[in-house]
Amino acid sequence: RELPGDPRTDKFPREVLHACYTKVSPSAEVDNPQLVAWSEAVADLLDLDHREFERPDFPILFSGASPLVGVLSYAQCYGGHQFGMWAGQLGDGRAITLGEILNSNSQRWELQLKGAGKTPYSRFADGLAVLRSSIREFLCSEAMHHLGIPTTRALCLVTTGKLVTRDMFYDGNPKEEPGAIVCRVAQSFLRFGSYQIHASRDKEDLGLVRALADYAIMHHFPHIENMSKTESESLSFSTGDEDHSVVDLTSNKYAAWAVEVAERTASLIASWQGVGFTHGVLNTDNMSILGLTIDYGPFGFLDAFDPSFTPNTTDLPGRRYCFANQPDIGLWNVAQLTTTLSSAQLINQNEANYVLERYGTKFMDDYQAIMTKKLGLPRYNKQLISKLLSNLAVDKVDYTNFFRLLSNIKVDTSIPDDELLVPLKSALLDIGQERKEAWISWVKSYIHELSNSSIPDEQRKASMDSVNPKYILRNYLCQSAIDAAEVGDFSEVRRLLKLMERPFDEQPGMEKYARLPPAWAYRPGVCMLSCSS
Ligand code: AMP
Ligand code: MG
Ligand code: MG
Repeated sequence: RELPGDPRTDKFPREVLHACYTKVSPSAEVDNPQLVAWSEAVADLLDLDHREFERPDFPILFSGASPLVGVLSYAQCYGGHQFGMWAGQLGDGRAITLGEILNSNSQRWELQLKGAGKTPYSRFADGLAVLRSSIREFLCSEAMHHLGIPTTRALCLVTTGKLVTRDMFYDGNPKEEPGAIVCRVAQSFLRFGSYQIHASRDKEDLGLVRALADYAIMHHFPHIENMSKTESESLSFSTGDEDHSVVDLTSNKYAAWAVEVAERTASLIASWQGVGFTHGVLNTDNMSILGLTIDYGPFGFLDAFDPSFTPNTTDLPGRRYCFANQPDIGLWNVAQLTTTLSSAQLINQNEANYVLERYGTKFMDDYQAIMTKKLGLPRYNKQLISKLLSNLAVDKVDYTNFFRLLSNIKVDTSIPDDELLVPLKSALLDIGQERKEAWISWVKSYIHELSNSSIPDEQRKASMDSVNPKYILRNYLCQSAIDAAEVGDFSEVRRLLKLMERPFDEQPGMEKYARLPPAWAYRPGVCMLSCSS
C-alpha cells in the first residue's frame, strides 16, 4: 500500500508544505551498472577503505538500487529565483540524500545520489541524469577542490546501464543517452533557496526559516553560536548612514550568520574570477549557504579571455550569468537571502544593509589579493590590472596559459623592446604590429612595477605558478572524456581526474592537456551546454 511519506513509494510530484524535506528512496532502474571512476581523496575524507570500490556490488549500492545499511534517505524542499524571477518550489528533483558519515576527525559529511530517480520535487522531469553531465559534475567538483576553491565533492560515478531520453536544445530532437549517477558529498547541501521557500509561504512556514537558520548555525557555524560579548567591540561599527546606526553582530546571531554567508559567497566568487570559472546557472537555489560551488551544469572555464563568456546557451542572448556578471549576481543573490531573513524577522533593515556592504568589501579585498598574486605584484595596482584585462580581451588571449607564461618575465630593464614579448610568445598569437606595441608597453610597466620589490625572479615565479594553474578542466577535455566513456572507455575520465588533482604542477608528458581547444570543439552542437541534463 502506498502511503504519503513512505520512502519506498512516495515520489509523486507535489507541493510540499510545512516541511524542509521528504523521505524518499532511490528508484532509478539499473541494468548491470558500472563504476566509471572514484575519488581517492573523497574516500579518505569519509574513511572509506579503497578496497570497498572493488566490491562487485559497489555499483549496485551507489546507484541506489540496493539500499545501504543504516540509510534513511530524503530529498530537500527548496525554492529559488531562476534568472531573476521567483520560481516557487523547486527542491531536489533528482538528488536523494542517503545520510551522513561522521569521520574520524568528527567531521560530518552528507552523501547524496544525483540522478537516482523521481522525488516529490521532480515536477515535470524524470529524476535522472545522463553520463555526459554526470562526468562533468564528477570531474569538475574534484578539479575545483584541487584548485583550492570551496565546492561540493564527488565520491564516485556509476553508469546505470539504462538509456535516458533528452530533448536536444540545439536541434530540438530527442536523443537517447546513457544514464549515470554521481555520489555528491558536502557538509551541507543547504541553499539560499532552502530558506526562501518557507518565507514565501504563509505565516506558519516563517517559523521554518528560523528553525533552519538555527540548525545551520548550530551544525555549520558553531563559532557564531559561541560568540561572546567580549568580541562585540571589534564587531561594532557605524554603517555610515546619516543616523549613524550601529550594527552589533554579537547581539544577533542571525545577522552574524548572514554576514558570514555573504562573505563566504564573496570569497567564492572572487576565486572563480581568479581561475576563469563561470558557473552558468547562478540561480538562488544554486547558492550554497556554506559558500561552496554547487550544481555543476552548463559551467565553463574561460579559454580566450572574454568578460561576456556565457557557457549556458539557455542564457543567450541575455547573458545574465556571464563571467563578468558573477560578482554582481552574487550580491543580488545575497540580497534575496537578506530579504528572506528580514521577512522572518531574523534581521532588521540596518543589518540587512550591512550584510550587503560586507559582501562588497570582502569581494574587493579577495579579488584584489588574488589578482595581485596572479601577477606576482608587490602591491595591488588597479591601472596595471585593468589594462592587462582589456588587452587580454582585445586579443582574445587564453586566460590560463597567459598567466602561466607571465611568471617567466624577468625584471631586467636592459632587455630590448623587441625581445620583451618572447616569454609570452605562445599566448600572444596572431597579433599585428599595433597590438604588439600595446603589449610591449604593458610589459614595460609591469616590469617597472615588479622592480619596486626585491623578490628574486625565481621566487616570484614559484609563487605565481602556485596560484596560476597549468591545467584546467577545459570544456573540450571533458568532451573527449565523455565521447570515450559513452562507448565504454572510462580511461580518459580517470586520467583527467588524476591530472586535475595537481593543476599547478608541471606534469611531464601531459602538456597536450594544456593546449587550446581544437577546431572540432567549436562545431555547432559539440560543446554546447544548457541548464539541466
Ligand atoms: P538546476 O537548473 O540544475 O539548478 O535545476 C533546477 C531544478 O530542476 C531543481 O529543482 C532540480 O532538482 C530540478 N531538475 C533538474 N533536472 C531534473 C531532472 N532530470 N529530473 C527532475 N528534476 C530535475
Ligand atoms: Mg540546481
Ligand atoms: Mg543542476
